[in-house]
This record gives sequence, C-alpha cells and structure tokens, in this order.
Amino acid sequence: MAQDDPRRSIPRTDQLLGLPAVERARERLGEHVLRDVVHTAQQRARRGEITPGEVAAAVGAAVAARTATALRPVLNATGVVVHTNLGRAPLSAAAREALAAAAGYVDVELDLTTGARSRRGTAAREALLAACPAAEEALVVNNGAAALVLATTALAAGREVVVSRGELVEIGAGFRLPELIASTGARLREVGTTNRTHPEDYARAIGPDTGCLLKVHPSNFRVEGFTAEVGTAGLHELAAAHGVPLVADLGSGLLVPDPALPGEPDVTTALEDGADVVLVSGDKLLGGPQAGVLLGRAETVARLAAHPLARAVRADKLALAALEATLAGGPPPVARALHADPERLRARAEELAAAVGAPVVAHDGRVGGGGAPGVPLPGWAVRLPEAAAAPLRAGEPAVLPRVHGGACLLDLRCVPEADDARLRAAVRTALAGLGGEG
Ligand SMILES: *Cc1c(COP(=O)(O)O)cnc(C)c1O
Repeated sequence: MAQDDPRRSIPRTDQLLGLPAVERARERLGEHVLRDVVHTAQQRARRGEITPGEVAAAVGAAVAARTATALRPVLNATGVVVHTNLGRAPLSAAAREALAAAAGYVDVELDLTTGARSRRGTAAREALLAACPAAEEALVVNNGAAALVLATTALAAGREVVVSRGELVEIGAGFRLPELIASTGARLREVGTTNRTHPEDYARAIGPDTGCLLKVHPSNFRVEGFTAEVGTAGLHELAAAHGVPLVADLGSGLLVPDPALPGEPDVTTALEDGADVVLVSGDKLLGGPQAGVLLGRAETVARLAAHPLARAVRADKLALAALEATLAGGPPPVARALHADPERLRARAEELAAAVGAPVVAHDGRVGGGGAPGVPLPGWAVRLPEAAAAPLRAGEPAVLPRVHGGACLLDLRCVPEADDARLRAAVRTALAGLGGEG
C-alpha cells in the first residue's frame, strides 16, 4: 500500500469497537457480532465503496440496524391463515405477554405455596380441560408429530396400528404419517383401499396383535366420488368390542365445531364419538404456539404420560405459557382471520387501493396449514403488478403477497388492522421503486 493510499487511514478495529454506538449495542449484541459488523465496514472501505472517513458512521448505522435474530416479522397478505412458511399461527396479545413472562424463572414445576415440586404444566392442562370439557385429561408435547409418535409407541410398539389406506397421508414436505409410525417400532396394519374402507376391513384386521386403531384426518386433500370411510363412532364400536384403544389424529386443532369450517373435525365431537385419545397441533386452528395436544380419557392419557418417551417430547415452559394464554385470552389472530367480517375486509382493501391507485378484486383466502382443504374464505384483494411482489418481500416491513395469475395480490384478512398504515407505506415504497408501473 502506498504511503498516500487513503486506505491507510481506515479506522482500526479497536477504535471502532470503542465507538459510543458500539458501546451502547453491547447489551444487545455479542462481541463476535460487533466485530463482524466492524470488519464488514472496514472491508467496504478497502474496496473503495465508502471513504475511510465514512467507516465510523457505517459501523454506527449497521450496529443500530443489527438485531440478535435474523428472523424478520412479515405482514401476511396472502389470505392464507395458517401459513406454514410464516410459522403457522401468529400468537395473541395474551400469549405474547405470557411468553415474555415465562422467559424468566417461572413456577412451571413448583408449588409456590408449599415450596414443593409440582406437576409440570398444570395451568396449561387446566386451560385445555376448561376449553374442552369433553376431555377427562390432557397432555402437551412438542408438536403434533410427537403426539402421534408417543401415542403409537405407548399403545402399539411391537404390535400393530390398524389404519385405513385412505388415511396414510403425507402432511408437509417429506412428513409421511406411515413412515413416522413405522419409525416407532409399531407395525402398520393397512386396511381397505385408497377410496373405500368398510367396518369389515377393520374387523378382519383386529386381533391379538392389535395395539390400537388409528383414525387420521387427511387434512390437506379430499377424496371425492365413490368413497366410503368408517367414522369415529363406527370405529369406536369396533374398538370397544375388541377392547383396543382408538386414537384420532385430527391435526387441525379445532376444540369445538366451527360453523365457518363445515366438515372440519373437532376434538369434542371425536371424543363424544368415542375416541380414547385425540391428537391436535397447537399452532394450526387452535391459534397457539407449536405444540402437540393430547386430549381424552383419563386412563389412556395417563398411560401415554407415563411412557418414558413422554419426557423426550415434553413441551417447554414457553409453549406451555403461550398455549394456556391462547386458551384463556381473547380470540387469537387465527380465529379473528377466519371470522373476519367481509364488509370490513372490503372497506380496508378499498382504502388501501385508493391510496396506492390500484383496483380491488374478489379474492378467496384459505385456511392453510393442512386444514379445511377446499373451503374458500371469501374476501378481497388489492391487485398490483406482479413485479411489486419482490420489493414488497424485501421491504421494511416485509410483506408477503400472493402471486397468482400474473398479478401481485394483497389480501388483508391476515394483516392486523393496526398494521394497515405500515402496509400502505410499504406498498407505496415498492411501487415507487418500479419506476412508474402500477
Ligand atoms: C399437521 C398434522 C400433523 C403434524 O402436526 P405438527 O404439529 O405439524 O407436528 C399430524 N397429523 C395431522 C393429521 C396433521 O394435520
């Protein structure tokens, strides 16, 4: 480097690490992260992208913008309520508060009156039983898949799980129920055919090797036409006659029937129809944190809770706190989005459309997350040029639109109304960047 090369005057690392802006950030960010920010700014100066005199300011700006997590909040303008790629259910205000409170030391496994150890997650269990009185007992595990693994392991390891061929489904990318069940050491005893399964099919398969009967709600597709399945009530008759437990994996998480989702199974009905234990996810239609919820007969749930595997799949304090608060607090965002007033959605869409000079079109939202396939959620969308989608995603706040039919559609169903102004600003910025389009 020549004597007069301006790069010689790039501020040194220790100097930059001592900047007031960096000092202030030490509470929030680790030393290796701060060093990384400093080195990045120095490299930019070495490449000539900024002058040595600008390095300190660049470090200050980068440190202020840097957060300890790279996860970015997203405004979900897709109209898909339970969006798996966006972390499924957004939490309610009550659940967010509960999360923050549970982040410190909490009495998750302690009786503060006696000072003695208590049963873990008592409050979440009580909230579940209050929300679903048809259940005698409840257990919370890590997720729905863990609930299924626990149930089939505890009831049928080394024996058979009798299940209809029409219910051997793939839930999400690469998650196949039959493979998951086989991994537990239980053997799958498939009965019936893809489109039709009858009570006799089950009856013929049940024998001394049967560990349990399994009913799976094939949540993400629908078989239509020449079909037959045995409902939970019919399976209960068979299970009771042979003295084997009946497990129902509903996935979606409705505790009671929802008129907005006709045909979507719910825990209460499944229990009333005779299921011994019902499995659902916490972060689908229940609208809570990732969790697997098992609800059912006291004896069956106790048997699962006592299995050693239950310890390996137990829910953490954050999920327990958020789940309890989801049930005890006001309607979670998932419920609000599912039951959004179409007139209000239309008024909001028209307001946004007028502000950005774009048309409003009819648009159906969807439940998503493998729930209620084929059930449209009628609403509205603001239609932008397709080219707006990329800058919207990359913007601040990040906005995820639906790209469909050569257009970028913004459905406000899953956008909290309080965020309408931020969304409007984000759309204006994205459109301005398109250079006159839209
Ligand atoms: C979603 C789903 C699961 C898996 O639940 P996770 O919480 O995603 O682990 C299992 N079974 C059914 C029927 C489902 O819909």
